[in-house]
Order: sequence, then structure tokens, then C-alpha cells
Amino acid sequence: MHCHILPGVDDGSQDMQESMAMAKQAVEAGITHLFATPHHLNESYVNVKDDIIDRVIKLNDCLQQENIPLSVHPGQEVRIHRDIFTSLEKGEILTLDDNGTYLLLELPSGKAPTYTQEVIYELLLKGITPIIVHPERNKELLEDHKLLFELVQEGALTQLTSSSIIGLFGKNVQSFSKKIIEHNLAHFVATDAHNIGTRGFALQQAYETITKAYGIQQTFYFKENAEMLIQGQGPSIEKPVPFKRKFLGVF
Ligand code: FE
Repeated sequence: MHCHILPGVDDGSQDMQESMAMAKQAVEAGITHLFATPHHLNESYVNVKDDIIDRVIKLNDCLQQENIPLSVHPGQEVRIHRDIFTSLEKGEILTLDDNGTYLLLELPSGKAPTYTQEVIYELLLKGITPIIVHPERNKELLEDHKLLFELVQEGALTQLTSSSIIGLFGKNVQSFSKKIIEHNLAHFVATDAHNIGTRGFALQQAYETITKAYGIQQTFYFKENAEMLIQGQGPSIEKPVPFKRKFLGVF
């Protein structure tokens, strides 16, 4: 539900040949459907809705010609932005499968902007549920777990990145990923694949790690939620568990 397979639009695949290689890797990883979610409104890339939809059609044509059994659906990874509602009014924002219900929302890797809660609230009012991508890689959330709990409590969903779970982004990000799962604050696991190298489709390894740590039910939960998105239905949501406050002992 989150990858950069669309060629030549962002820091993911650079051309159709690379996209085909990524598609083959995805199929080998057991993936049958995926959402192509190019960056939008981050500091470097602008990818508006209609353009993404056109490019996804071309990508699917190419996959068919090459006999690669993968179905690509349109999506977008939107950087949180004050102007997000102007962009929405102009028809530039693309929800998953363009059905107006789920939107991948990215926070900057350093800070969560002061207007984060407000934007999430406004999106929910419009019937759009934001899915915060890789919260485990956001510095501020890493330092302030309570903020993530509040965002989920408010109604946002979250997606962990598979390579974070298997430790490719370091120990801190890995242990925060585990805490997020343990507090019922994660709803999806996705690859956020950018290429076939260091940022590929490490989905199965992540599921294996989750199964080992929490049992097969937890893996089923993530898989079923991803499947729900493809079917245009709502995922199941577990009640978020607040983080225990750390008391500093004074002696
Ligand atoms: Fe991404």
C-alpha cells in the first residue's frame, strides 16, 4: 500500500525498466496488488492526481505486456502541508484508488508541524482517513510517543515500513516500531520500496519478524487490513493503548 514504483516521478524508480524489475521483485515477495504512491508536496516533488492515474494505467499496460502478475493501483504520499486543503479543492490530492476515503500522509522526518492535529481533524471531517506513513522514522514522535497515541486516538491510522521492523533503519527505529505494534498504534505494514536494492520489497522478512515476536494473528491482522484497502473497505482498528508515563524517582 506504499511504494515508489511509478517511473520517473520521484526518488523511486527512474524508468520503466527499473519499474519492471521492481514489479518482478514484488511478485517474488508474494505481492499481487500494490498501490503506487509517488511523493507529493514534499520539498522536491509534485505529483498531482490526474497525472498519477494516467501513469498507473501505462504501468499496468506494460506489466501485462511483460506477463508480470501484478496489479498496480493509484495512490499518493502527501507531505503534510498547510495548503493541503487548497490542493484538495483543486483536485490534486489522490486518495487510495481515488475513492475519497484513505490518504497516505507523511510528516517531515524531523518535527511534527504544530498544525498536524488540526490537519488530521479537518481531513476526518471531510470523510478522509489519513494514514500516517512510517511514524517510527519521525524524530519527534520517537521522542514523544504520547503525540503518536493522540493522533491515533483522534482517528488517524498508521503504516509501519517493513525495513524498519527488520532493523534496516537502525535499532532505535526498530524498537520504536515494536512499541507502536505493542500499543495497538500500527494498522498496516508496507514496503515503501524505492528500488530493488537497499529499499526493496522486504515484506516477508518483516512478517516473519512480527510472527516470531507476536504470533501469526498479528501478521494476519496486518495482511487483512492491507487487503481491505484494496477492496475499498475499512480496516479493523484495535483500541490504542496509552504509553505508561515514566516517573522520575526523587529520593
Ligand atoms: Fe514513501
